[in-house]
Amino acid sequence: MGDTYKAISEQARLDALSSYQILDSPSEEAFDRITGLAATIFDVPIAAINFIDETRQWSKSKVGLEICEVGRDVSFCTHVLQQHEVLSVPDTCQDERFAANPFVQGEPHIRFYAGAPLIAPGGEVLGTLCLIDSVTRPALSAKERQMLASLAALVIDELELRRESARAQAVEVKLLEEKRLVESILSSLPGIFYILDTDGRMVRWNHTFEYLSGYSAAEIAQMHPTEFFEAEEQPRIAAEIGKVFEQGEASVTAQFRSKGGALTPHLFTGRRFEFAGGLYLIGMGVDMTEQQRADEALRMLNERLEERSYDLERANERLAHDACHDALTGLPNRAFFAERLTQAMQRQKRNPEDAYAVLFLDFDRFKIINDSLGHAVGDALLVEAARRLRASVRAVDTVARLGGDEFTVLLDKADSVADASQVAEHIQENLAAPYCLAGHELNLSVSIGIVMAEPGHVDAGDVLRDADIAMYRAKELGKATSQVFDRPMRERAAARLTLERDLREALQKGEFEVHYQPIFELGGRRITGFEALVRRRHPVHGLISPADFIPIAEDTGLIVELDRLVLAEACQQMRRWRDETGQPLDLSVNLSSQQFERSDFLPAVEKVLKASGFPAERLHLEITESLLLNNAPHTHERLSQLRALGIALHIDDFGTGYSSLSYLERLDADTLKIDRSFIGKMLQHPRSSELVKTIISLAHTFGMSVVAEGVETEAQLAYLRSLSCDYAQGYLLSKPLPPERAIALIEEKKRASEGHFSSVVGS
Ligand code: C2E
Ligand code: CA
Ligand code: CA
Repeated sequence: MGDTYKAISEQARLDALSSYQILDSPSEEAFDRITGLAATIFDVPIAAINFIDETRQWSKSKVGLEICEVGRDVSFCTHVLQQHEVLSVPDTCQDERFAANPFVQGEPHIRFYAGAPLIAPGGEVLGTLCLIDSVTRPALSAKERQMLASLAALVIDELELRRESARAQAVEVKLLEEKRLVESILSSLPGIFYILDTDGRMVRWNHTFEYLSGYSAAEIAQMHPTEFFEAEEQPRIAAEIGKVFEQGEASVTAQFRSKGGALTPHLFTGRRFEFAGGLYLIGMGVDMTEQQRADEALRMLNERLEERSYDLERANERLAHDACHDALTGLPNRAFFAERLTQAMQRQKRNPEDAYAVLFLDFDRFKIINDSLGHAVGDALLVEAARRLRASVRAVDTVARLGGDEFTVLLDKADSVADASQVAEHIQENLAAPYCLAGHELNLSVSIGIVMAEPGHVDAGDVLRDADIAMYRAKELGKATSQVFDRPMRERAAARLTLERDLREALQKGEFEVHYQPIFELGGRRITGFEALVRRRHPVHGLISPADFIPIAEDTGLIVELDRLVLAEACQQMRRWRDETGQPLDLSVNLSSQQFERSDFLPAVEKVLKASGFPAERLHLEITESLLLNNAPHTHERLSQLRALGIALHIDDFGTGYSSLSYLERLDADTLKIDRSFIGKMLQHPRSSELVKTIISLAHTFGMSVVAEGVETEAQLAYLRSLSCDYAQGYLLSKPLPPERAIALIEEKKRASEGHFSSVVGS
């Protein structure tokens, strides 16, 4: 045993001691019984159970002794620790270890000491069970030693017992804590919680269960789980419980019924679990009231979303349709047509037999009808024309509206020009029949450009461009006809495009200037005013005649801008000359009929007059007779508005238009300008001279004055004077002059008239 003892360090001994948690604990009967027994058996006045820690000796139990704690230095028991067996000291005074000990020398005057080590199961000596007497006694016999050691062993047994029960207690506390924790977790669960056994007994449940059901714990303990549901629901619930035990888990939604009969929808989820050899169902119920409300809201939201997406889908379908169809006629639009055309081109590329043709249609004079009868009539006309157009071709052909009065037809499988031309003819016939719209009977013709499939076309844009060019050519050739595209057309069109670009640039660069040709009164050979005639001063080619650019300007619409430029410039110029010379002068300005199609025309003229300060009464606008014979109401409205301002209307180039002399009566104008072609030949051709004579006399009859244009000879002038022509204009009198020369002429004439002779004219 000594070996075991030696092997144990003081630290291990102290650790063992502390593991029993005995030091400083209150007295305990079990220990007191042992000390009492020891004192009785050995018949000693003092017996004690002492434990020795690092510094002291502490008595757990004692008989016949007051002190319960002494320092280790004076401790008897300390000596027992070292020898690991019962120590018996018959006379302390005879033992050098104890003779000087204060407890020997003083109270309690120890003379006899016997101590048995308290040896823990691990071999550590924790203290002693000791016997003390104040008188000497014989040394303990072997039997007595044995007995004392046995009593010491009892102490250890008690210690062990004590430690076990402390441990058990700690476990119990811990269990209790855990139990409380579980309870609080269970009651904090959002729903009800329960454990059932296989017999359907309620084993455990949380507070919520009691609270929600309204039953007491005692009542619940007596109830079957199905009893928390309505009678008709019970079989279903029982089946679900069975399912959990059979399959491991199940869930069910049902109305949880309280004692008072209140029903709350719950989702119950159950899970089977095994514990201590028994099967249980552990389950939870979650209140679904909110959930169901949320579900309901969600369902309604979904329904609305579905409705919305249905609406959206339909809107999208519409949009998709709108994206490729023309809103007015319902025909495919340009994009759609281009797509179809592209497909046809691809087919043709794969199989050259698969030829196609494209017709490009533009109504003649549609703009006039639209402007004069209003957009509603124009729209109705387009709708009807679209219908007829669609009916004129086969179902496989594509008819589209590109915009405005432009339509296209893609002829599927058009092998020859003859085929395509025949279709074009058929279309023209169908569109030519009168249209009865809003009380008007209208006639419409169409110009058609035809393009056959050709390898030079890369994309749909190429085909449409050539078809457009051919259509344009058809218009040039007198409208109401069709033209098949050929290469030279493209070149002409390209050239025109270049000219247009060039003209636009010239406008931007301010290359246009106004020249003035004087108009003379025939009676007194006096300058009454000037006709403004535009020229272009080209940086390379010099002065360019209007004959070279006016047609292009008219084609491209640039004429509107050009005319306004000339009007503004001329009005300002004339105002300055009047100020400089003090002489009132008339101004004649040429106006393209395109001006009258513009709604902003009248305000533009008023603005120019106002800005220049040129009097309206002295402004003459030269227009063509065809404009006056135009039936469009807008034209007449605008003309009468001009006249209301005091502006005079002169009919230019009279005699070259369609008008017969019988129209003269109807022409609402102030002055006629006889075209220079008649003046030029009137002395050679009796018929021309007769015509000029008749025009002058008829004009006078209807209260109009007459200007003779292109007077180049004195003979012509003399003849015109004999016919009582009012005014003359021509190279004989003066060519159109740049402004500085025009003013010089005015001043020259003025000086001449102030002088003695007035016949400087023509010099
Ligand atoms: P128009 O209105 O008939 O103008 C008269 C034209 O006859 C002018 O040609 C003028 O130079 C020319 N002329 C005048 N006297 C004689 C003559 O004795 N013999 C010959 N052979 N010709 C004579 P121009 O300036 O080349 O103008 C040509 C046409 O261009 C004008 O014919 C007019 O229709 C148009 N034009 C000129 N300026 C404008 C303008 O500002 N706006 C518009 N819309 N057209 C204009
Ligand atoms: Ca003119
Ligand atoms: Ca003229």
